[in-house]
Amino acid sequence: MTAVAAAIAVAAVGSSRAAVPAAVGRASAADRPYGLPFTEPSSMATWTISQPYGNTVYAYFERNQIYRSGQGLHMGLDFACACGTTVVAIADGVVQSIDGPGGAPPHNLMIAHPDGFVSFYGHLLERPALEIGQSVARGQPVALSGDMYETCYSSPHLHLEIRDASLQRLFNPVQFIDADWHSLLLYGSGPLSYERELSDPRRWQSFDDQPPIQLGGALLNEFAQPYPSGEH
Ligand SMILES: [Zn+2]
Repeated sequence: MTAVAAAIAVAAVGSSRAAVPAAVGRASAADRPYGLPFTEPSSMATWTISQPYGNTVYAYFERNQIYRSGQGLHMGLDFACACGTTVVAIADGVVQSIDGPGGAPPHNLMIAHPDGFVSFYGHLLERPALEIGQSVARGQPVALSGDMYETCYSSPHLHLEIRDASLQRLFNPVQFIDADWHSLLLYGSGPLSYERELSDPRRWQSFDDQPPIQLGGALLNEFAQPYPSGEH
């Protein structure tokens, strides 16, 4: 067994026990062991949050297209930033894949962490100059952020996901990353708006109250009484 396989096997055992439920229920900053993917603090000159994870209005309208594989939800957290912004590892880990599965073109990176979770960095400017199996430390530069349309003016942002070791189950990154999320989301460059089901209008309306995603599962937001409504 290679070092990478061993690390992933350990991670899989960890996640199958208690790590996943604990992560879903995390509520306090002390329980959030990861850091932000940038060394610079948020500002209009560095990076801002442009779309939160989960049941966003944008994801709802794209539930049958962009976000179909993610049960209709936004599968990660988007950080608007200029092309070429340095991205750092959010926790210690081992490089699991470079331009592997997960999409978010043009380039992506996965890092496996000892606690059983994997961080995924998407829409990277260029192929990260790392090796599979290489150890990386929290805060270490690992990539440069890019633009999904490869123009660097259309939609430059970093898409960050947290998955379990199966890579099929995704979680809200704010439950893992220690940051002042209230402030970051308040002044982000995208609207903090969630799709409502009017028969249960308070469900999934907060940045820290969003459901996990099972890749390929049924849509979670095919609401009977959606607000705002409309087809796309
Ligand atoms: Zn995204």
